[in-house]
Amino acid sequence: MSLENIYLKQLEIGAMQNFVYLIGDKQTREAAVVDAAWDINAILKAAEKDDMKITKAFVTHFHPDHIGGGMLGFPIEGLTELLERQPVKVYVQKEEAPFLKSLIGLSDSDMVIVSSGDRTNIGNMSVEFLHTPGHTPGSQCFLVENQLISGDTLFINGCGRVDLPGSNPEDMYYSLTNKLQKLPDDTLLLPGHNYGGKTSTMGREKKNNPYLRFQRLEDFLSSMGYY
Ligand SMILES: [Zn+2]
Repeated sequence: MSLENIYLKQLEIGAMQNFVYLIGDKQTREAAVVDAAWDINAILKAAEKDDMKITKAFVTHFHPDHIGGGMLGFPIEGLTELLERQPVKVYVQKEEAPFLKSLIGLSDSDMVIVSSGDRTNIGNMSVEFLHTPGHTPGSQCFLVENQLISGDTLFINGCGRVDLPGSNPEDMYYSLTNKLQKLPDDTLLLPGHNYGGKTSTMGREKKNNPYLRFQRLEDFLSSMGYY
């Protein structure tokens, strides 16, 4: 699908500089919401204003600032509130599904379990799911043509934390080097937080992002304080 036909909206919402995305097909007016959290009304309004219908929900990973819930000690709106208003399926990597069940009470029928390399369509637009474990076991990125929605795996000049419960620094290294680094330089990077700007390109990150520049796992781990 040509880029002109792809609808993309980046919304900065909430107290933790999260980016929520709407991505879809301009012709069929269908969109997926990525990491619906913080203010479901604002997300639905944004879609409505652009005459887009949210037909699927994608989850990068289970942290509350991306799916909602009360795990940070205060309630954040998220998928539960979305599904009440817009009953869509939630696309999640299989390693992450148990967390969505236990933390916010999603059921098996709420979710579509995906694996790396799987694809789904939004209208006529094809989306590839890339499993990029490290920040969490089932972290995933979404690739649409040359646009990568990277969640908390890759940030502009940074990568996601690997010191949290369920994190794995070694997995993060291989997700960055074996998967994301292999993407073409002109791939547009759309991160999960506004930690250093709104967008970048993989070419720029390969040059500037210190976490994409380690030749050896040992060096990556020691930079993270593991040796
Ligand atoms: Zn996170």
